[in-house]
Amino acid sequence: MRPFTYTRAATPAEAIGSAARIIAGGTNLLDLMKHQVETPDRLCDVNHVGLDRVERDGDGLRIGALVRNSDLAADDAVRTDWPLLSRAILAGASGQIRNRATTGGNLMQRTRCYYFYDIDAPCNKREPGSGCAAIGGRTRLHAILGASDQCIATYPGDMAVALSALDATVEVEGPEGRREIAATAFHRLPGTTPERDTELRPGEMILSVRLPAPLGGRQIYRKVRDRRSYAFALVSVAAAVGMKDGRMETVRLAFGSVAAKPWRAIEAEAMLAGQAPSADLFDRAADVVLAGAQGYGDNDFKIPLLRRTMRAVLAEATQETM
Ligand SMILES: Cc1cc2nc3c(=O)[nH]c(=O)nc-3n(C[C@H](O)[C@H](O)[C@H](O)COP(=O)(O)OP(=O)(O)OC[C@H]3O[C@@H](n4cnc5c(N)ncnc54)[C@H](O)[C@@H]3O)c2cc1C
Ligand code: SF4
Repeated sequence: MRPFTYTRAATPAEAIGSAARIIAGGTNLLDLMKHQVETPDRLCDVNHVGLDRVERDGDGLRIGALVRNSDLAADDAVRTDWPLLSRAILAGASGQIRNRATTGGNLMQRTRCYYFYDIDAPCNKREPGSGCAAIGGRTRLHAILGASDQCIATYPGDMAVALSALDATVEVEGPEGRREIAATAFHRLPGTTPERDTELRPGEMILSVRLPAPLGGRQIYRKVRDRRSYAFALVSVAAAVGMKDGRMETVRLAFGSVAAKPWRAIEAEAMLAGQAPSADLFDRAADVVLAGAQGYGDNDFKIPLLRRTMRAVLAEATQETM
């Protein structure tokens, strides 16, 4: 690890003014620093700035950036009215990590591409212009949607997939003031600038995440992975489906670990809404999601896996209960 200075902020303004790298739970940043993937020379600890409460916000909810993943998943309002979020968080990491990890840090966690962590490998995300060792290399965890010839990494988190399906917004503040970014637009596709994971500008800090009014319906987060726990998703599906008179009235669908951002399936949602559920319809909606999907060898299996997982989740979400 390289030397760095450490300061502790007492307020968000102090953290923003410090122009130092923010450290929250440290569960991702410290790993990256130990591997020398990231070498910040100044750290600002934000664990004492407040922003650690979940509060009602009109019909919605405001979640402070420092709320721990465990506390958010266990929050009564979240469990009752936004169960998708609770389920997605509980599918991630381990109890110990969730006790430490924060809402802001979770959104900002970096890819798990093996070559990103190997400082001897070429990686455009870590070192722009150096190449991409994953293309033609090991790709089991990599993207099938929205990749570019510069980078095929995925965003690996679970919580953000639910936030995307739930139409959350991310409130941020920086030297130029405060603004809101839709969760669906927070993470970026790589294009020609894979080093930029998100729309956060230099010096900006996440203050909170806001959830709009509850969607209701049946909410399912299904995570397919190599182990039952303590593993990142190969493919995940976040779904919220409300039924009326045997038809799907509201449909929200987002996919995780298939692209550099949670993949919200707006077109497929529109195709499903208002229709009676059927295997054939689910298949056609999967065709829409997978239009343009591309495998890179080891990860070819993700294309049929996404289709099967989507079909199974929609079948469960639309099943009539007695
Ligand atoms: C073994 C292991 C398994 C894991 N498995 C999963 C999993 O299955 N699913 C999953 O989703 N995650 C998983 N994780 C990732 C874990 O969820 C993240 O490490 C954690 O959420 C990061 O939060 P943190 O507060 O510790 O962030 P930190 O490590 O403190 O920071 C991470 C990044 O966020 C930035 N940051 C932090 N707070 C803010 C803020 N308020 N504003 C702006 N920037 C900020 C930091 O500067 C840094 O760049 C796993 C991690 C480990 C170590
Ligand atoms: S996929 Fe992206 S993160 Fe992985 S080696 Fe290529 S450029 Fe780096």
